[in-house]
Amino acid sequence: MAESVELPSRLGILPFRNKVLLPGAIIRIRCTSPSSVKLVEQELWQREEKGLIGILPVRDAAESTTAVGPVLSQGVGSDSGERSSRIQVGTSDSQRLDVKNQQEIIHWHTRGVAARALHLSRGVEKPSGRVTYIVVLEGLCRFSVQELSTRGTYYTARISPLEMTKADMEQVEQDPDFITLSRQFKATATELISILEQKQKTGGRTKVLLETVPVHKLADIFVASFEISFEEQLSMLDSVDLKVRLSKATELVDRHLQSIRVAEKITQKVEGQLSKSQKEFLLRQQMRAIKEELGDNDDDEDDVAALERKMQSAGMPSNIWKHAQRELRRLKKMQPQQPGYNSSRVYLELLADLPWQKATEENELDLKAAKEHLDSDHYGLHKVKQRIIEYLAVRKLKPDARGPVLCFVGPPGVGKTSLASSIAAALGRKFMRISLGGVKDEADIRGHRRTYIGSMPGRLIDGLKRVAVCNPVMLLDEIDKTGSDVRGDPASALLEVLDPEQNKTFNDHYLNVPFDLSKVVFVATANRVQPIPPALLDRMEVIELPGYTPEEKLKIAMRHLIPRVLDQHGLSSEFLQIPEDMVKLVIQRYTREAGVRNLERNLAALARAAAVRVTEQEQAVPLSKDVHQLTSPLLENRLADGGEVEMEVIPMAVNNHELSNTFRIASPLVVDEAMLEKVLGPPRFDDKEAAERVATPGVSVGLVWTTFGGEVQFVEATSMVGTGELHLTGQLGDVIKESAQIALTWVRARAADLKLAASDEINILEGRDIHIHFPAGAVPKDGPSAGVTLVTALVSLFSQKRVRADTAMTGEMTLRGLVLPVGGVKDKILAAHRCGITRVILPERNLKDLVEVPAAVLASLEILLAKRMEDVLDQAFEGGCPWRQHSKL
Ligand code: ADP
Repeated sequence: MAESVELPSRLGILPFRNKVLLPGAIIRIRCTSPSSVKLVEQELWQREEKGLIGILPVRDAAESTTAVGPVLSQGVGSDSGERSSRIQVGTSDSQRLDVKNQQEIIHWHTRGVAARALHLSRGVEKPSGRVTYIVVLEGLCRFSVQELSTRGTYYTARISPLEMTKADMEQVEQDPDFITLSRQFKATATELISILEQKQKTGGRTKVLLETVPVHKLADIFVASFEISFEEQLSMLDSVDLKVRLSKATELVDRHLQSIRVAEKITQKVEGQLSKSQKEFLLRQQMRAIKEELGDNDDDEDDVAALERKMQSAGMPSNIWKHAQRELRRLKKMQPQQPGYNSSRVYLELLADLPWQKATEENELDLKAAKEHLDSDHYGLHKVKQRIIEYLAVRKLKPDARGPVLCFVGPPGVGKTSLASSIAAALGRKFMRISLGGVKDEADIRGHRRTYIGSMPGRLIDGLKRVAVCNPVMLLDEIDKTGSDVRGDPASALLEVLDPEQNKTFNDHYLNVPFDLSKVVFVATANRVQPIPPALLDRMEVIELPGYTPEEKLKIAMRHLIPRVLDQHGLSSEFLQIPEDMVKLVIQRYTREAGVRNLERNLAALARAAAVRVTEQEQAVPLSKDVHQLTSPLLENRLADGGEVEMEVIPMAVNNHELSNTFRIASPLVVDEAMLEKVLGPPRFDDKEAAERVATPGVSVGLVWTTFGGEVQFVEATSMVGTGELHLTGQLGDVIKESAQIALTWVRARAADLKLAASDEINILEGRDIHIHFPAGAVPKDGPSAGVTLVTALVSLFSQKRVRADTAMTGEMTLRGLVLPVGGVKDKILAAHRCGITRVILPERNLKDLVEVPAAVLASLEILLAKRMEDVLDQAFEGGCPWRQHSKL
């Protein structure tokens, strides 16, 4: 760092062309000219103590035209000897010293800076042998040239120092102007340093300078480090006055600061743009590579064009076409990477895919053929088929008739879905099924608005897109299973769908434009009528499909299920035969359902087992030694040829065919009882179940109705030591719990009449608790129809008499003992029949429902009608109800 130095009165001068060395700055110069080499040699190299030289700026001759002041020419001597010539120099800053050297005018500046060599290195150029120096110089302090002369080849000057003395300095430091200026300078300098340090991420080293170096020196150091014009450098050099120097330096530092800021802004902008476009470029490259890899290298633009073409051919109504075009215009303006591009595209794809006009050509409806079709697909169901034919007939006469929507109601597996698909086949239309089971959200039907992330169209619109025609037969499956909760009411959306007035302009929230559903033929299915909201039910015509009797099931199995199952498994009756007896056994022992789905499943299990055996045997046959049993003439000839039959290679194509033919004839697999047990396992149901379960007093047999049709429900009652409480188990609902209370109250009130207690005063619950259980405990149960069954179980418990095992019952009971009618009688009777029950006790007012029960079933059952609870008890116990001698009722 430049400290204050004692300057000699004369200094060797190194001219510095168009440049200025300021105090505090460090430069590295390569000296090659003879004069400068001489200067360095004599003034620096050969001296023992560190020498000083003066660096004096000179202006190029070309620039001299702008120079002001007298130009003095002075011949400068050669290397040999000293031709001292004196040049008077003026004292004004603007004066220039001009020395003519070898016809060249040198414009000297009158002020320079004394410099000290920090480092010197000497070199010899080959092959010329010329000596050169590399000098590192540090500027120390300003001087002014009094007189310039040549010594040999280089200049020397008589100088006078320009820097202030210590005393002067101290005086200036008190000057308030100087204080303000130096503060200003330091602030600007600090700012500059922080910006530079931030950029270079260096930690606060430069800032130390500001605290340790006197401010007037700092001014030089700072300015020396910028690239400024020669004129500015000169004027800085000329600023001997400290205040002038500081204000000049502040101005220059500030200018530099501003230029750094502007440059930074620009680079940031450019960098930002660059990195964004580079990123996009990279992503695009990657996308292209992926597409190429997938063999899908058409561009987005092509896609959009293809989408537009697809939209044009979709046949949208004009208002929707306008809407679609608006959306397409938006899409075209978007970048594929932009959020919303994809959702917009998916939406447009849907608009283009929807069948606005596309419809299946409807053939002239042939009712006879439709009837044949229905008959060939379904056994029985005469009434249902008749209703379907009527429906089709009306459609034939008036194709746009707004008839009611058919709704097939019945337990699972009774053919509701297959009937609906038969309607589609009869009409020659496409068939699609929409499952509504468990749909609680209105958006499932109507879609989500597009503002939601991941929004989708509703099931109807989605289904129509998949089926791709606007006039399919659409099955709304399990319409009774829709529920409503906070997410809206799907049933209300369905109302709009099924209403011929409204469904012309069905509004899906996602689609957001109306879609005409009026050409769709709707058919619905349900397990039960009760859960269907009345408004919805009002728009439908309910067609009930009761469960099948075992006889009907047998017929369905023989005529429809077995051929279908065999076909599905690649078999035929030549491979597998399931005799009627065995089907009966499957129905009795392995299924207890209203429909035929489990039956079909069991038959499929038999077919699978047969398929395994057939394939095993087929493989075994070609290698078997029993080949001679085969009747193929081709093989017979071959066998006759000689002994090495086993080794002979028979052409596969011919051979396979013939062998399988032969095999079919040889051993069709006939299902027997042993195979049933092996494939289906031990029997799951038998007729003895009821007898075994009612073997102890306290158990009665009820008939209930579930979504799976009618079922037999046992009711178990038992008592134990306690305090007269009633315990109920078996996942019971409120209604059934109340029935149990009523039943217990009734039995307690009639205890004496029923000979359960010696007198009316005796409490039969004295010291005991009653527990009533409804197996199976895991299935929720509710409804009033178990009333009579509960009473019977309690009477049996208290009297310790067993209930008849062949008798099942159903009916609601009032507190006074009246038996009220119940629903689902047909299904319940069928269930009783399935379970081998022969007597059924029914409320008298249910007599009318018996017409619906198939005659064959009725013929095999004894139906006992009850008006009062006593009638039920009379029939439920062997030998009547012996306790009732005189009823008070
Ligand atoms: P659901 O829709 O009522 O639950 P499906 O229509 O799916 O029942 O019927 C189950 C299976 O039983 C189907 O393979 C169907 O063809 C068959 N099926 C039901 N009823 C009959 C019938 N009456 N005649 C012929 N096959 C029937």
